[in-house]
Amino acid sequence: MQVVITGAASGIGRAVAELLAGQDEPHQMLLTDRDADGVKAVAEAIGPAARAFVADLSSPDCGKDIIAAAANFMGGIDGVVSNAGIISGAPLVDQTPEQFDRVYAINTRATWLLGQAAHPYLAHSRGAFIATASMSATQPTPGLGFYSSSKAALLMLMRQCALEWGPDGIRCNTVSPGPTYTPMTQAGYDDPQRRAQRESMIPLGKLGMAEDVANAIIFLLEPQAGHISGIDILVDGGMSINLMPATGGGTGQKASE
Ligand code: NAD
Repeated sequence: MQVVITGAASGIGRAVAELLAGQDEPHQMLLTDRDADGVKAVAEAIGPAARAFVADLSSPDCGKDIIAAAANFMGGIDGVVSNAGIISGAPLVDQTPEQFDRVYAINTRATWLLGQAAHPYLAHSRGAFIATASMSATQPTPGLGFYSSSKAALLMLMRQCALEWGPDGIRCNTVSPGPTYTPMTQAGYDDPQRRAQRESMIPLGKLGMAEDVANAIIFLLEPQAGHISGIDILVDGGMSINLMPATGGGTGQKASE
């Protein structure tokens, strides 16, 4: 496959690149990030099958610049993984319009710009378009109002893409990580108490790792997912179905029969 990956210098994007590079089937990858040193190091470690391209997803030109570089390097595109994202952590009453615009530009608008620019290539290859959303897209998250709402918009944007671009043969899907140990979250989860508290809420009993999310993204990229479009895969260790146990469930209630 010929694949474009954003946020490829770190965490989940990097894991997608490294797992693809480790497969028997050869893949070509355009790896992009604003972290120039980081993305170059990942591309160099993979070798000639990968090329680094430095771009800032807050720019309105990011989509056409990245896709032009990808087409130039690979000749075609089978998959686009719009993975990069940022957190803006503060209560909504304290946030500014500039912060709102920045979070939405990176977390939501950049995905549309990438998809729009990649559309002719993905239509030609009958390829896959995947975005990394978040469990926060469906669960309001304390202190992350812009983040969660930008990811909710991303979920609908990708479903809309699935509807509009399905007839062109393009599959559009999202992957929503739950709490995942990556450089984005590492500082918090390196605190043993915080980690234990979070893991106690996850039925599988552990944080996700970047590879757990990357494997779901790779499944959606590959031809075996050829009839899957418009869905979101939650990779959260079951956390999202763990609300009712906190209520005690049926314990202590009188059985009706
Ligand atoms: P990460 O911070 O390790 O990686 C994100 C990458 O995106 C970094 O390399 C960063 O340089 C890049 N990036 C950020 N802003 C950019 C910009 N303006 N232009 C270009 N590149 C930019 O984080 P991660 O955990 O691997 O996150 C990947 C995706 O997963 C994000 O969309 C994030 O919102 C989502 N996610 C992560 C978690 C988690 O717990 N880690 C949970 C839910 C969703």
